[in-house]
Amino acid sequence: MRKSRAKSIGEKPSQKAPLVAHSPRTKADKQAIASVVLERLRTEYPDAHCELNHRNAFELLCATILSAQCTDVRVNMVTPALFARYPDAATLADAAPEDIEEIIRSTGFFRAKTKSLVGMARALVTSHNSDVPRTLAQLVTLPGVGRKTANVILGNAFSINEGIVVDTHVQRLARRLGLTREPDAVGIEQALLPLFPRDSWAILSHLLIWHGRRVCLARSPKCSACVVRDVCPSAEV
Ligand code: SF4
Repeated sequence: MRKSRAKSIGEKPSQKAPLVAHSPRTKADKQAIASVVLERLRTEYPDAHCELNHRNAFELLCATILSAQCTDVRVNMVTPALFARYPDAATLADAAPEDIEEIIRSTGFFRAKTKSLVGMARALVTSHNSDVPRTLAQLVTLPGVGRKTANVILGNAFSINEGIVVDTHVQRLARRLGLTREPDAVGIEQALLPLFPRDSWAILSHLLIWHGRRVCLARSPKCSACVVRDVCPSAEV
């Protein structure tokens, strides 16, 4: 059995440690890996998509705010009741905070999230004719909305590839694949953008997230079953 480069120096894939024993050094090397990863994961996960249930941009915005420090599965358990009671910005803007808190309590940080939801809805009503804006600059002015949430909305509700959503899975995979050693989400996004074609930015996040949830697990990546193991500098095979 071939001993992996990562294992040879005593590292184990983990969430925090990048585990890139021999990072690709040039942009061309990284682009070659990126190209293979995109193609193989597209084939592996043809149905990859946003796993937050939603029917429109407003619902996705609410669900994404609720997804902070919470699983998509948990968010999907509370949003049917939330959307049934507050189907649009106007109704949510007028909601009693304690009523929202009761519905979203199980997602954690429910008081802060309630504040963000009501503040976001009021901003939509007062500044955006009750519609969700379609630019990053406008989205990030909404309460509870940062660059990551804005990219989720633009890419999934409006099919606008403005950036790459970098969550914990994308961070871990980007480092393990040797595409970046940046320590934070903003730096990782900036490193990934030039490596992938713009029209793939939204789907790329889903592909990496799906792979991170199913194969490249945080604690015990299933490298022997991984379709990109031959190009991954962290592969333990
Ligand atoms: S080979 Fe695949 S599962 Fe293993 S670390 Fe690389 S991307 Fe993750």
